[in-house]
Amino acid sequence: MENNRELQDSFGREHTYLRISITEHCNLRCAYCMPEEGIALTPKPHLMTANEIIHIAKTFVELGVTKIRLTGGEPLVRKDAKDIILQLGNLGVDLTLTTNGILVPNFIETFKIAGIKTINISIDSLVKEKFNKITRRNYFETVFENIDLLLTEGFRVKLNVVLMKDFNEDEIIDFIELTKHKNIQVRFIEFMPFTGNQWDKSKLVSYAEILGTIQSEYAFSEIERLTDALNDTAKNFKIKAHLGSFAIISSVTNPFCTTCNRIRLTADGKLKNCLFSNSETSLLETLRAGESILPLIHKNLLSKKAVRGGMDDDLKFQNPDLFSQNRSMITIGG
Ligand code: SAM
Ligand code: SF4
Ligand code: SF4
Repeated sequence: MENNRELQDSFGREHTYLRISITEHCNLRCAYCMPEEGIALTPKPHLMTANEIIHIAKTFVELGVTKIRLTGGEPLVRKDAKDIILQLGNLGVDLTLTTNGILVPNFIETFKIAGIKTINISIDSLVKEKFNKITRRNYFETVFENIDLLLTEGFRVKLNVVLMKDFNEDEIIDFIELTKHKNIQVRFIEFMPFTGNQWDKSKLVSYAEILGTIQSEYAFSEIERLTDALNDTAKNFKIKAHLGSFAIISSVTNPFCTTCNRIRLTADGKLKNCLFSNSETSLLETLRAGESILPLIHKNLLSKKAVRGGMDDDLKFQNPDLFSQNRSMITIGG
């Protein structure tokens, strides 16, 4: 095993969680994730092959990574997604993925063989018209059926809900009511700024507002604050009488960077040490040149900023000149 310090940054944070985007393609067009006009897709020869993904993932596991999440774009639209999932399943890590859920029925056996236990599904509205509007496609029933399928098949399911003013902030309680009889975790995510997603602060539903809405519906004694796992990005809660739970992810109003253990690999093989960093290191070019990627990994991690890629205060974070230097979310993967 290589020296674990390879995965430590200059603030002493150990990076044990690798998020790999395996594609930039998607079968939805969520308004908060990608620009309406679409994105310029990277030519296929510049994207990682399945073998390259596995090679880089193995390198990270040897350095100390214990958890890998597949994302995209939509990870399940990639033609060789099954092969990638099965091979990563052999690495002995906690393997998981974030998906829009549309293609889930084709993958149930693959998930089981690969040892995947928990799956995050993105769903931003319980109202068909609203869901179809925000995703610019028509898959509402499919996603709902597939959430139930995953539960029936014994997977733990987390629902990712990006909250936005004048869109779905009125559905917070409806989502929590879903946890009454379903053992799911609903994760409310603050809407974050990325290039081309028309973010502005007036659309943000903050942690404080989300909690305020919940506290106006349920009595103080009904709401339980759960213990958050180490490195958890979410603040976890539960309505005591409900089967499931809910959580709030507050990257905008309350960043959780001091315990960050995450590092990202984009579909074109670039290492991104923070969701908001605009400097990236191409591992793929070096790998293809037959050279070691270890020095690059080390150097990239040491350049990681303390907070949100250097956008450490509200003014910087809300400055379009700064956040538009980053990629669109669809090419980062969340
Ligand atoms: N296609 C998959 C999906 O939608 O689950 C995986 C990729 S998607 C980029 C990963 C996560 O990022 C999703 O849960 C999505 O809701 C979230 N996301 C995308 N844009 C966001 C934004 N502007 N603010 C907060 N979360 C965002
Ligand atoms: Fe596709 Fe996921 Fe982005 Fe929606 S959030 S456009 S499903 S990548
Ligand atoms: Fe980590 Fe960057 Fe997210 Fe902060 S903003 S938790 S440093 S990835």
